[in-house]
Formats: sequence, structure tokens, C-alpha cells
Amino acid sequence: MAFTKEQIKEELGGILGRSIAGATDEELYGALLQLVQKFSDEKKTPVTGKKLYYISAEFLIGKLLSNNLINLGIYEDVRDILRENGKELSDLEEMENEPSLGNGGLGRLAACFLDSLATMNLPGDGIGLRYHCGLFHQYIGSGVQTEMPDKWLTNQCWAKKTDKTYKVTLAGKEYEARLYELNITGYEGRTNTLNLFDLDTIDESIIKDGINFDKKDIAKNLTLFLYPDDSDEDGRLLRIYQQYLMVSAGAQLILDECVKRGCNYHDLADYAAIQINDTHPSMVIPELIRLLGEKGIEFDEAVDIVTKTCAYTNHTILAEALETWPRRFLDKVVPQLMPIIEHLDRIARERDKNHPEVTGIIDKDQRVHMANMDIHFTHSTNGVAKLHTEILEKSELKDFYALYPEKFNNKTNGITFRRWLLECNPRLTNMIETRIGTGFKKNADELTKLLDYVDDEETLQELAEIKQANKTALAQWLEKKQGVKIDPQAMFLIQSKRLHEYKRQQLNLLYLIHEYYEIKAGHVPAHKIVSIFGAKAAPAYIIAKDIIHALLTLSKVIADDPDVSAWIQLVFVENYNVTAAEKMIPACDLSEQISLASKEASGTGNMKFMLNGALTLGTMDGANVEIAERVGNDNIYIFGESSHQVIDHYARADYCSRDWYEADPNLKRAVDFLTSDEMLAHGGIKENLERLKNELLNKDWFQTFPDFNAYIVRKNQAICDYAVNSRDWTRRALINIANAGFFSSDRTIESYNKEIWHLKEQA
Ligand SMILES: *Cc1c(COP(=O)(O)O)cnc(C)c1O
Repeated sequence: MAFTKEQIKEELGGILGRSIAGATDEELYGALLQLVQKFSDEKKTPVTGKKLYYISAEFLIGKLLSNNLINLGIYEDVRDILRENGKELSDLEEMENEPSLGNGGLGRLAACFLDSLATMNLPGDGIGLRYHCGLFHQYIGSGVQTEMPDKWLTNQCWAKKTDKTYKVTLAGKEYEARLYELNITGYEGRTNTLNLFDLDTIDESIIKDGINFDKKDIAKNLTLFLYPDDSDEDGRLLRIYQQYLMVSAGAQLILDECVKRGCNYHDLADYAAIQINDTHPSMVIPELIRLLGEKGIEFDEAVDIVTKTCAYTNHTILAEALETWPRRFLDKVVPQLMPIIEHLDRIARERDKNHPEVTGIIDKDQRVHMANMDIHFTHSTNGVAKLHTEILEKSELKDFYALYPEKFNNKTNGITFRRWLLECNPRLTNMIETRIGTGFKKNADELTKLLDYVDDEETLQELAEIKQANKTALAQWLEKKQGVKIDPQAMFLIQSKRLHEYKRQQLNLLYLIHEYYEIKAGHVPAHKIVSIFGAKAAPAYIIAKDIIHALLTLSKVIADDPDVSAWIQLVFVENYNVTAAEKMIPACDLSEQISLASKEASGTGNMKFMLNGALTLGTMDGANVEIAERVGNDNIYIFGESSHQVIDHYARADYCSRDWYEADPNLKRAVDFLTSDEMLAHGGIKENLERLKNELLNKDWFQTFPDFNAYIVRKNQAICDYAVNSRDWTRRALINIANAGFFSSDRTIESYNKEIWHLKEQA
């Protein structure tokens, strides 16, 4: 159903109870929220057949107003109506707080999936938590990252309180989980629901001194923060409390809904598919078995039902990120699950007599391996890019693969083009529409039609102008937000993603130091560059924070030196989140995807940049491999060791960073600069910089040094190509856009649905 401009005007006037011109921005924002709510409610229809529950600790949904208006097909009409009354939609967008219910790629993936499900008219709801502060707000003014609570909840909020509650027992005490519902409105599609649970007793006033709070007072703190600091035992316990609140309330909701639709528990798998997004929701498995037991279902049958209903997505091979919990933690928080988990462990050990210590659930040190439970007791385990799945099957999870080859499958990640093209880059969207029509919005493969235009001068000219306009817009946004001036005529190189050593922002840092020296020696780059970073570091991740400090300090050194700042600007964008990403990505010339090969499961930032006409500088890691496959080697800059080489180094334990440092004077010079007088004179903190230097010299666990030279050569090649032949650069950018269709999350969802969920498209 379509909503006409007249209808919208009438509705808006009705909600406001006064003229649009006379309303304040806040009133208008509230009225639009209600309008969207009403229109999207109309697209909620009863579900026939199976329904998917995507259960995830994170949903990084971003601001919703524009996205919902676009998906309802009323963005232009609303913008015009406001304009006719002297109001700007973009001003109202500014008023919305971003719900920071996620941390990075994994949470953003969950949000993209919900958009695709609704767009494709598939019945799929999310289950998660209504964190009051979500991920922290990052400030960088003092040269280091400081964390502050990000209280995003306001009176006018997309998540609606319901009167549905579920009882959840935590450490023997009963709590009431309240359901909040957030409409997920597809592009010309149905409306699904993101179910978020919370306690009524949460008390934001216990947050003191940044993001600290009393971690013991569960009734007051349980959903205060996403990923509360887990550097102490109370913090780790709190995470288990959160996880169990989510899965217990979620499991009860699922059973409730299924029973209402005629399910008799035995046939649960015909009514529900549950996708477990990484291991945070893994306890849903024993919890469902427990609940089915309460309904009178025998243990063995319950195990069978749950296995048929649930599927698991693995997001990482980083050993330290694969969740294991000391058994005594679970004994304390969820004693009701322990007999079930023990029983599952016995079954697992019987199934794999060859390596029970590897594939068992409870190991000899009494640690509970959540991923192992998932693989044994779900019917599907998927990786998130071809290379990642291959590494799971051949090395990380090879004993599981031998046991259950039929369970393993790949689902290369994707992104929703509604947010990452239509919303964030209207200029490019419009250009594409005028060339190939609007079919690509729902059928991303149609982007290949752009290949007819790769030598069309008018198209190339227009694409270059769009990129320039987006760069100018980013420069203006940065100046307004952070007071930093950047040169929009420079080449924009962007590395924006969570800060982690495996993502290797430190490699980029060493490059910039290297170039600093080169410029001082008279070897200037082929083109002026602006190197832009956006990254939050986990509050307890010391080295990650040291890398941020080094970048911030280096940016001052460079800015203070006119010889160098004529050629390089280093900008760190504060508080990288979806809102910032939407400004940065359309303005990028070169997308930096430089993780250590084998460590980035997929990446989705790489896809967003490609879709918006950036070329990629990357290692053969994650989905970079599949990007390279699609665009061909001439249209991407690949460098560095292969995943095989890297895995071999780990297996042989033969990598010694100090050898590389001693052997390469350029590398030594760059590393030594970290603790130089220049750095210290520009606010560098000696202790932090020395710690970073020592980490690199004595460990460098993510093998930065072996890729140092290859990175410099490839990056400088890219800068040179950009400088020498801008037409060809734009041509290659267009080839990237034309080949980005595969990376639509619609494709990913279609594949999940065909191979795992089997949902019916709703009328
Ligand atoms: C897409 C996205 C990410 C993921 O980026 P990667 O480069 O894949 O790690 C992280 N944060 C935000 C805000 C995003 O939009």
C-alpha cells in the first residue's frame, strides 16, 4: 500500500493538532515518529508457517527516522511537506539519538539482516536487550580515549513498552523481564519486530565517574550497558546475567508465540527457526530444553527438537574471543541449567570418542565452551565469508567438521543497500537510477548494468563530481563537529572500524610515520592525502587505547609541521558509530581493509566502501577475497602475506618481530619514532608509547612487521594512480560499484533461508 502526500499531510496535522509551520522541531520529530509507527503498524500481518527468531546480544540499528521514511516510500513527500513549511528534515534527523545497541560489525550485521528480512517479506524477528546506554560514547579531546555513558533513551523512542513480562530466575532470585517492541519496516515490504527485554528496576543514577557503576546490584544494573567492563569477576558475572536474561525471556516469548499459532511443542521446528548470532545467546539451547522439560517433554526428544530448531553463526577464529565460562560462574548464575549442560556434555563426549577433550562442552579445567555446545546441538554452523568457513573446516573446527560435515556451511555477510546506499548516498543513488532504473534497490544484481557505462564520459564525470560533493560534505561535517579542517581536494583514505590489533591500525600508523620521514627527506607523495580514522577501543584493552593515543599524538606532530601537513593530514573521528559511518563512507577514495590475513572473519565495512565507490587497499582476508574475485586484480590493491603463510607462522611459532625490526632500517626508524622527542613534545605519554613499542618489538602477535614494506609499496602505488589518472580511478570506482550487488544482505538472507530456515514469503 502506498501513502499519498495528502494522506501524510493530513495525518501529520492530526497528530500535531496545529500547523506544521507553527510546530517546534521536537514536536515535529515526535509527530513523524508517531506517523511512521502508524504506517508501519499497518504492515504487520499474522505469520503463516515458520517464523525466524534472530537472537543477538547486539543490534546496531543506527538512527531510524530517515531509514523508516525511505522504507515506507514517503521520504521525499515528508521532506517536501516540511520544506513547504520552512522546516528541514535533516534538522529533525539531528535530534534523534543513535541507539548504540551494538559494538561493531556483528551488531550491524544483525541490523542489516532485519532490514532484508522485512524487505523480502520474510517473517523474522529479532531478540535482544534494551541497554540503557549501549556502547560507551568516546571522547578524544585530551589525546586519549575517554568513555562516557551514552544515554540514548528519550521520551520519544522507537522501542515501545508493552505489558508483556516474563519471569527469569538469576542466581536463585526471580526478576521480571519486560518486553519492548521496535518496528522493523522493510523497503516496500512487511513490518517485523525487534523484541528487546529490560527490567523496570534499572537505575541510571548508579553510574558514577564515567562508565563505572556498582556491578553487584543486578536489579539496578543489568541492562545499563552493552558489554560492561569484564576485567574483573563481577563484570564477567554480569555478562552471564545479561545473556541469561535475554535467552530465558526470549525462549519464553518464542514458545508463547508458537503455542498461540497452534504449536504442540513436539513440532516446534515447524513453527520457529532460531539463529544464534555468535555465542552470547548460546544458553538458549539448555534453556529451551529446560522449558520443554517443564512442558512434559522427555530430555532426548527436547534435545532433538532444539537441535532441529536452532542454528549457529560463528563470527571469529580469535581464540580469545571464543567464549568459555568457568563452571563456577554458571553454577552461581544459572544453577538450573547446569544439570542440562552436564548431560549435553556427556552426549557430546559419546559422539566424539576420538577427541572428547577438544569437542566436549566442559573441559578438564571446568570451563564451559559455548561454541562447542552450539555446534553439537544445532543443525547448522556457518562461517561468514568463504575464507572464514574454509579456515573453520580445515583448521579451527576441523574435529567438529569431521564429526558433522553436513552441518557446516558458508553465508558470506552482506549489507543492506537501503541504508548503505539509498540513505547515506542520495547523490550516487540518483545517478544510478538515471542510468539503470530503480530495480537495483530490491535486486542488487542489477547494478551490473552499470558496466555499460564504464567508458561513458558523462557518467564518469558525474561520478567524480558526486565523490567530490560527498568529500566536501564530510569536511564540513568534521569542521562543525570537531573543529578540524581537512582539504576536500586531497585524496581521502579511511580506516574506520573497531580498534583491534588484528585489524592493524598500527600498520597504518607506522606507514604515516614512515611518510613523515620521507617528506622530511624531500620525497613527497604523489598526491596530498587525508588519512581518516574512526575507532573505539574496548575500555579494558590497553594496547588498543595506546594505538589511539599514538595516532592522536602523531596527528598533532604532523599538524604542527608545515612541511608535512602540506601533504598529509591525520584525522581521528570521535565516537565512530553508524551515524559517523554514513557520513564517512560515501566520501572515501581508498578503503583500508588491512587486517592480518586469516583474522578478519568477513568484514562488512569493506562492502559499504566498495558500494560507495571507494577502491580497496587490503589483505587477502575475510570478504576482501570475494571482493577481489569480483572486481579483478586491476580494480583492487591487494598486499601482504596470505592466510596460509600466517597460519603456518602460528603453527611453527617462528615469527620474531625483533628480527624484522633489526633488519629493516625504515621499520626501525618508524617504530623508534613512537617514543621520540617529537611525540613527547606533542602530548605523547611516555608510558603508553613505550608500552606500545615494547608490544610491537617483543610480541607483535598480529604480525605487523612482515607486511610493512608491501603495505607501503601498494599504498603509494594507489596514491600515485589516483594522482596520475583520475579518470581511470573513477572508472575503477564504477567497476567496484557495479560489482557490489553480491554483497547485499538480501542475497545473504536468501541463502540462509534456502539452506537453513525455510521461511515462506508472506503475502
Ligand atoms: C559496518 C560497521 C562496522 C564494521 O566494520 P568492519 O570494517 O567490518 O569491522 C563497525 N562499526 C560501524 C558503525 C559500522 O557501520
